[in-house]
Amino acid sequence: MADYKNFTVETDADGIALVTWDMPDRSMNVFTEQVMSELDSIVDQVTADVAVKGAVITSGKETFSGGADLAMLQKMLGLFQKENSRDPDHAIRLLFDNVGRMGQLFRKLETCGKPWVSAINGTCMGGAFEMSLACHGRIAADSDAVKMALPEVKVGIFPGAGGTQRVPRLTDQQQALQMLTSGQNLTPQRAKAMGLIHEIAEPKKLVAAAKAMIKGGLKPVQPWDEKGFKLPGGPIYSAAGANLWPPAIAILRRETYGNYPAASAILKCVYEGLLVPFDTGLKIEQRYFTEILRTKEAAMMIRSLFVSLQELNKGARRPEGVPPTKFRKIGIIGAGFMGAGIAYVTAKAGIPVVLIDRDMEAAEKGKAHSDKLVSEQIKKGRAKAEDKERLLSLITPSADYADLAGSDLVIEAVFEDSEVKKATTEKAEAALKPSSVFASNTSTIPITSLAKNSARPKNFVGIHFFSPVDKMMLVEIILGKKTGEKALAVAIDYVRAIKKTPIVVNDTRGFYVNRCVLRYMSEAFKMLIEGVPAAMIENAARAAGMPVGPLALTDETAIDLAQKIMKQTIRDLGEKAVDPEQMKLIDTMVDTHGRFGRKNGKGFYDYPEKPAKKHLWPGLKDLYKQRNPDKIDYEELKQRFLTVIALEAARVMEEGIVTDPREADVGSILAFGFAPYTGGALSYIDGIGAKEFVRIAKTLRKKYGAEFKAPKLLLDMVEKGETFYQRFDPYAKEEAKKAA
Ligand code: NAD
Repeated sequence: MADYKNFTVETDADGIALVTWDMPDRSMNVFTEQVMSELDSIVDQVTADVAVKGAVITSGKETFSGGADLAMLQKMLGLFQKENSRDPDHAIRLLFDNVGRMGQLFRKLETCGKPWVSAINGTCMGGAFEMSLACHGRIAADSDAVKMALPEVKVGIFPGAGGTQRVPRLTDQQQALQMLTSGQNLTPQRAKAMGLIHEIAEPKKLVAAAKAMIKGGLKPVQPWDEKGFKLPGGPIYSAAGANLWPPAIAILRRETYGNYPAASAILKCVYEGLLVPFDTGLKIEQRYFTEILRTKEAAMMIRSLFVSLQELNKGARRPEGVPPTKFRKIGIIGAGFMGAGIAYVTAKAGIPVVLIDRDMEAAEKGKAHSDKLVSEQIKKGRAKAEDKERLLSLITPSADYADLAGSDLVIEAVFEDSEVKKATTEKAEAALKPSSVFASNTSTIPITSLAKNSARPKNFVGIHFFSPVDKMMLVEIILGKKTGEKALAVAIDYVRAIKKTPIVVNDTRGFYVNRCVLRYMSEAFKMLIEGVPAAMIENAARAAGMPVGPLALTDETAIDLAQKIMKQTIRDLGEKAVDPEQMKLIDTMVDTHGRFGRKNGKGFYDYPEKPAKKHLWPGLKDLYKQRNPDKIDYEELKQRFLTVIALEAARVMEEGIVTDPREADVGSILAFGFAPYTGGALSYIDGIGAKEFVRIAKTLRKKYGAEFKAPKLLLDMVEKGETFYQRFDPYAKEEAKKAA
């Protein structure tokens, strides 16, 4: 057979071709234009060569494949946009044809007349799983490393290469819809139970078992190409269909509030596609895919949730020239709520941890948190007893600062008190080499002022985690005035080692995330004071795309904490810095009613014993005269939330606190779930256009106050017709380098 760059093809004595996908220049196989054209030739050869009876396709890497290269989709869109200004009809036709290529290739493989088996040896995502579904046999290795999914919906698109047609022809419609609209991972066992794969094999015997399927006479015809094919679970127009579809549409609405066009396109593809023959179904899918790819949501989500996220995770902001850090030991001081969580995620990454507190009992208690978390994982089948043993053996509790000696990095998470932090820094540095980096997890004290306690402020940095540490994927790295490049590189290396996403933020009150979050909460307090019913406030925020309502969020982080922050702000910045009405609301909640939030079971919500669900505290109605909900502009409530946060993000950019729009966008989604379909707080403005956004902000400012004042930066962007990604082009440096 011919030579290929991305595949090897070896035909054995039984005439079975083993097609091994192993891209030489990538750590993971992905579908690129070249991969597609090579696979196309391989299908042709397998079909034409009489000596070949069938083919097994597998991967030469640990993973099977990550699916389509999204850069390829971005290129198609680029072509479309270019052509669209010249000849819109032709542009759409071109896009339609381009997006159909992958689906046609898989259809060709499926109807080539010879059996193909996909031997899934590791993670198999998106387009690669769609290709596997087009194979006549599918077999997965029995390993925790094997995960299969069609996760496209998570980046604003959907499986457009036959996925929406093959899945509901292999499994019942309810399971199909759930899998396609959630993008959930399937284990081999789950995929087999759903009928999506045929067999599970021992990893070492995977290829042999795949070949055996062909030798055993696997028919090179898919069920839907057989005469008399019947849909599993029955046709759309049946009693089962009538039971499924009306609630399915309602559930989608409940989950997405209509904000995710790709999710509703999936429902349309499945519903319409199952009413017609398979090839027509593929055409329907191709049409919807062409439409969805052109949505703002797809462009923004692909950019932030795939491209930028990956770039940040790979260390896009890491200074060049600093050698990578190999962590041999990390010290954590303060084994409380945060320190215990930081110890867990560090040990989980395989790094030895010394966990210090004021006495051994407190340090042990911090370690017990890891025991609890890993034990829960074991109960859920997500970890094994050996994982627990290994993880716990990596955490050494101690009350002796001398044990910090030899740490590459120390993170302090002691009380939020400048004096305690000062003493901690001094004691720790006495035990450390001058080259080790010292980080503070403070949430409010400027890093520059804490660095004054350090004998080597160059090696002093902020590493700001969010709670709960094990669940929150974002970490803010805060640069003090004197923080050096090495400290930044070490901090980024650490955040990458624990598999979280770092964003780099310059020192300021509240850093980036909390500044935005406080705006979100404060807007809700204002609405309460205006007499907007609390349920309407929470619902409007969720309908705008926020995962947690602002009152629920305040309860989670604690209302007395909000009170402390407001009081501290008044002390630091003066009375005018906090709205007295809002201060009164929070004082009433905490001081008059003893409502601290979820932690004491009483906040904006009541938290009755399980299984009863939390519900809004009825007493809220008595705090302010309630307005008639019919007279309240619900769309405006939604707009207020997104606008007030986006404005704060714009101010943060104006002040140079965040300098890269990718970080502001990704940070806003990972930290507080800023309406993901917008692509993040800045992409929200870019998506609307600065001009229209400023117009909206001006209208809201007149009605609701100064928090809606657009910063000069935005006015300037309006004048110049710029977007954030043009003005703060994150790739400008790279491009200038390339050009030079
Ligand atoms: P916490 O009170 O739960 O824990 C603090 C721990 O530090 C306690 O176990 C205490 O015994 C220990 N400690 C105090 N002085 C010490 C000393 N001199 N030496 C060793 N240990 C000492 O507090 P927390 O909520 O974990 O917060 C810790 C830090 O993290 C604070 O700076 C806070 O602002 C920051 N932070 C908190 C959150 C949050 O959601 N709670 C989020 C981000 C950052």
